[in-house]
Amino acid sequence: MDHQKTAPILVAGSGPAGLIAALGFADAGFAVTLVGPEAGGLDGRTTALMNPALKILERLRVLDEVRSKAAPLKVMRIVDATSRLVRSPVVTFRASEIGEDEFGLNLPNSALNPALAKAVAAHSGIEWRKSMVETWRLDAGHAHAILADGSEVTASLAVAADGRLSPAREAAGISTSARSLPQAALVLNFGHRGEHAFTSTEFHTETGPFTQVPLPGHRSSLVWVVEPETAKELAALDDATLSMRVEQQMQSMLGRVSVEPGRQVYPLSGVTPRRFARNRVALVGEAAHVFPPIGAQGLNLGIRDIDDLIEIACKNKDDPGAVKALAAYDFRRRPDILARSSAVNLLNRSLLSDMLPAQLARSAGLGVLGGFAPLRAFFMREGLRPGSGFAALAGGLRKQVRR
Ligand SMILES: Cc1cc2nc3c(=O)[nH]c(=O)nc-3n(C[C@H](O)[C@H](O)[C@H](O)COP(=O)(O)OP(=O)(O)OC[C@H]3O[C@@H](n4cnc5c(N)ncnc54)[C@H](O)[C@@H]3O)c2cc1C
Repeated sequence: MDHQKTAPILVAGSGPAGLIAALGFADAGFAVTLVGPEAGGLDGRTTALMNPALKILERLRVLDEVRSKAAPLKVMRIVDATSRLVRSPVVTFRASEIGEDEFGLNLPNSALNPALAKAVAAHSGIEWRKSMVETWRLDAGHAHAILADGSEVTASLAVAADGRLSPAREAAGISTSARSLPQAALVLNFGHRGEHAFTSTEFHTETGPFTQVPLPGHRSSLVWVVEPETAKELAALDDATLSMRVEQQMQSMLGRVSVEPGRQVYPLSGVTPRRFARNRVALVGEAAHVFPPIGAQGLNLGIRDIDDLIEIACKNKDDPGAVKALAAYDFRRRPDILARSSAVNLLNRSLLSDMLPAQLARSAGLGVLGGFAPLRAFFMREGLRPGSGFAALAGGLRKQVRR
């Protein structure tokens, strides 16, 4: 085995962001070394990916492999299920309102992650070292990683896809603002008597969102955000009692519920780095942003990080980790990441808050969205691809002015 290799791109981390980054950089013609373990254990979550992210998976030849296990998302609904004084009206977003058949697909991670790993293993432009980076050495010209298996990798650019604790981020000297949240997500899949009609419903409660997302057939996935102690209690219930609790929480909207085997609890936190690239390291995925699972944002945002990073690397082919390229990446990603992170964190805080002004602001915001179709369409387009909503709004305004 070659223990001293110079590779232009080193991707650290083999979660979905790392696998997608490795595939994208290799397809763009870079020699890629991916460092990270093969996924072990079952990930029972599903990931709702919107159309722009799906286009990227299609380009990477991964989508066809997973499409049959996914359900389209045609309608997304927000229901205020708090018992607060000020409550919001139900807000419904329909893909048809913005001329789309669907917003995206809900994909089981147990299908998506193996399909990505298979594509990486088959790609001749990627060397996958199934080890961990133990030590980083970052100097003006290169990023060096010493791996747990004793080998070393040297690259022009290190892509940090090594998750929320990101050792690469720390080695690059990028500080973060981190918050632990009084919340955990109970995750499971369930069958139901009624039709979901490809509708996802997010019930907002005082402890966080309870989100049902369609799966193929009479099945849905659930992310139920509650206090950590409650998550533990719910996960320990017998199937019949938990099924009843889920049905009650959904106001029997999908009829009789039966939970499937496999429940997982994810503690929630928030992490926002102060910069998104430095010292030959660029952050993508959860290394670049961690927030609660509201509105299916996380991996969609991570895929946009990767797309932007590859575009900038292609413009700086001889040294994609140079100061100029990293500055361009930081500048490009900052508005999108900060806008998404703060919107999700604010919404989450307003749910947890007993303060009337926070409830009023949330209710007024959702009320305006629910009642005013052009604004709703704007938000739907912004949800799909930031900037496109502004472009459509500007186009609409221009038309008004011309009339
Ligand atoms: C309950 C829940 C529901 C969600 N639902 C959605 C959704 O519907 N839509 C959506 O877009 N997002 C969703 N998300 C967010 C999404 O799951 C994350 O954005 C995504 O999993 C992050 O992937 P990642 O590859 O960045 O990080 P991870 O999956 O954490 O991967 C990090 C990888 O780095 C590796 N690593 C760590 N240290 C090292 C090292 N030193 N050397 C090498 N490798 C290392 C780890 O082993 C791991 O494989 C959800 C999140 C949660 C918690």
